[in-house]
Amino acid sequence: MIMNILNYAHYLLEGSIEKGETVIDATCGNGHDTLFLSRVVGSTGQVLAFDIQQEAIDQTRQTLLENNYTNVSLILDSHANVTSHLQTKEIERVGGAIFNLGYLPQSDKQIITSGDSTVEAIENILPVLKSKGLVVLVVYHGHEGGKDEMQTVLKYAMRLPQRAFHVLQYGFINQQNDPPFIIAIQKR
Ligand code: SAM
Repeated sequence: MIMNILNYAHYLLEGSIEKGETVIDATCGNGHDTLFLSRVVGSTGQVLAFDIQQEAIDQTRQTLLENNYTNVSLILDSHANVTSHLQTKEIERVGGAIFNLGYLPQSDKQIITSGDSTVEAIENILPVLKSKGLVVLVVYHGHEGGKDEMQTVLKYAMRLPQRAFHVLQYGFINQQNDPPFIIAIQKR
């Protein structure tokens, strides 16, 4: 079966993250990916969940409470500052990361992820990512500003050295209305 975009993003991460690891949700929004990651790492692992909007942090906290998950640190800060939120032992090894780009659904469409901070965050995560670990980006580009971010991220990802990273693009090419797609970066 061909998987839809969100299921495939989770499938990739589930296959590479192990219980007990530290992982990153770079854009927690309503908390769906945070909840997924907290299940995958289990009670011995932890999720660092970032968002620049208090509303998203509150919404994610609520989602986690409703599902009884406590292994998450909610961080009201840009994902570009990820390094300053990692402890020494995590600096050596992050199990994986997800970015769900764009704006918070049912919220202010002017507050969007930007190419520069997204690339800065990826650049900060790749050196601390475990070998065979994945950074998965779900790229939404139908909104205002979305195409600029898409181009910046694609340009960066396409230039990552082949000897150090596998870089995959996955998406549907016959869907209307700027369908989202995945960029997955695996450290070799
Ligand atoms: N993954 C979320 C979920 O499961 O509901 C959806 C994320 S939503 C598409 C994108 C989120 O990125 C928004 O909540 C927005 O506030 C956040 N965001 C924008 N710029 C950011 C930044 N520099 N650092 C962290 N989060 C950011």
